[in-house]
Amino acid sequence: MKKKQDILLKGIGASPGIVIGNIFHYKDEYTNIKEISISEKDIEKEIERLKTALKKSELEITKILQFAKEKLPEHQLRIFDAQILMLQDEYFINGIFMRIKSELKNAEFILTDEIRKYQEILIKTVKDDYLRERAFDVEDVKNRVIRNLNIQNLPSKIESSVIIVAKRLSPADTVIFSNNNILGYATDFGGYTSHTAILSRSLNIPCVVGLKEITEMISDDSIMILDGYGGNVIINPSEESINEYKAKLEKHRKFEISLMETSKLPPITIDKREFSVVANVEVPDELDFALSQGTDGIGLYRTEQMVIYKGSFPSEEEQYLAYRQVADKMNPRPVTFRTFDVGGDKVLPSNYQENNPFLGWRGIRISLEKPEIFLNQLRALLRASVNGNVKIMFPMISTLSEIKKAKEYVELAKKQLDEKKIPFDKDIKVGVMIEVPSAAVLANLIAKEVDFISIGTNDLIQYLLAVDRGNVLVSHLFQEFDPSVIRTVKFIIDEAHKAGQKISMCGEMAANPITTMLLIALGLDEFSVVPSRIPEIKKIIQSVTVDECKKVLENVLSMDEATTIKNYLEKSTKEKFPDFILDD
Ligand code: PEP
Ligand code: MG
Repeated sequence: MKKKQDILLKGIGASPGIVIGNIFHYKDEYTNIKEISISEKDIEKEIERLKTALKKSELEITKILQFAKEKLPEHQLRIFDAQILMLQDEYFINGIFMRIKSELKNAEFILTDEIRKYQEILIKTVKDDYLRERAFDVEDVKNRVIRNLNIQNLPSKIESSVIIVAKRLSPADTVIFSNNNILGYATDFGGYTSHTAILSRSLNIPCVVGLKEITEMISDDSIMILDGYGGNVIINPSEESINEYKAKLEKHRKFEISLMETSKLPPITIDKREFSVVANVEVPDELDFALSQGTDGIGLYRTEQMVIYKGSFPSEEEQYLAYRQVADKMNPRPVTFRTFDVGGDKVLPSNYQENNPFLGWRGIRISLEKPEIFLNQLRALLRASVNGNVKIMFPMISTLSEIKKAKEYVELAKKQLDEKKIPFDKDIKVGVMIEVPSAAVLANLIAKEVDFISIGTNDLIQYLLAVDRGNVLVSHLFQEFDPSVIRTVKFIIDEAHKAGQKISMCGEMAANPITTMLLIALGLDEFSVVPSRIPEIKKIIQSVTVDECKKVLENVLSMDEATTIKNYLEKSTKEKFPDFILDD
């Protein structure tokens, strides 16, 4: 029978690149664990079997950790440390032994049940996407132990030059397979912040996650095209599709090389209007890449990543060292550090759950009510500012009084440092994000109160349209092209300019090349985007005049629906920049 050709699946482009090759279906899930009764005389044997499997699993992860140390940045190794700790956790392990003894059931069954309970707690109580992902790290530990209970070995010899297809890939698998020069990863589950996604970006392996049912659609002899840029996968591609993607890949390569040249040049339009294009980053490891992309500085440094990785608030000294390292590395380019934008669940007692965490205790609200934490961070930032390239930005501002109070804390932190004769930049610039509709309405008053403003469209859109930014059920309603969003952005920029203030945008809207001409016409002064987008945004700025962008804006303002606006912007960008590869 002829194989069905050209099956197209859409997922999330987690790590860029296009690859074509045979697939390897990796199965490492133990969903059908049988409940088997054991007799009293077999208890010791069962416990011994589990002990051996735990030891073997620990040794395996330790080996993976050694290997990962050569390939990954420090903070990404913690997943493996945490997995080892779990295997050594006496409370957890003894609990399983006790249940085997009292319930007379097989080790696989009790282990699976204990892990399930643990995951349920994690998923129910934790709201942060990143931390919820950790529930799957636990799954990895479980699968490994069960495999070792059954004395099965890892498929250590995966032939090179295959695309690995799996329901879900654990951090360990993602690292281990990368050693075999595999072509790419395609998984049923996972989002942009899943470990498979984060690690494959670090390892430079093209990856598409969230494909939902790819493991159901393939057979062992399937061939696949994987497009990590657009998040597309084609199973059993026709000759035509293969040629099309080969051409696309070639175009990408040439395009990326040409962009690297222009990204070294400043972002100035043909009619000499100057802009600034800077990077959004979360960890210091990203700085080299941002610099290689031609960044003019850092427009958003998400300091809360330190809290997320550490699991608690870092001390003033820890923060100072981290911020200073970043500021020094970027010097003389400016670095805008955003103070912790954590949600309430990280500082609330664990038995307290907010019904609406996005409308709850978040960002500046926490900082203002936890002065010790806030002052620690402010002193660390001030100390890191000695060379004059640090700016401080507050998240989640919804009233003017929050800004006034936050500035009072900055003054207090300065005074405390002065008393100890510790140097800092006396003219440090202090600004805010506008990402809550009430702050958008007050843009003019806010602009007079601060040194700079950055528009956070990710939250602004969710609060303006009442659409949870992380909820897949309503994700189609999260529309950056909604006329209400465009009008609000225009209003904020106009109000800031009236107050004589320059204005930046660090939400994802600024990183979408089809909005660049629109944002130029609206008068946005600074684009703060993921580092990989910098060359494209710079290229667009360098290739247009403000007048031609104004025509685009005029047309957009005459349209009343998000899809009409999006289609129009896509079409006009494609016409003007036929070489650009736009997101689908
Ligand atoms: C935003 O809300 O647009 C933003 C940049 O902040 P974050 O995505 O970190 O909430
Ligand atoms: Mg935000």
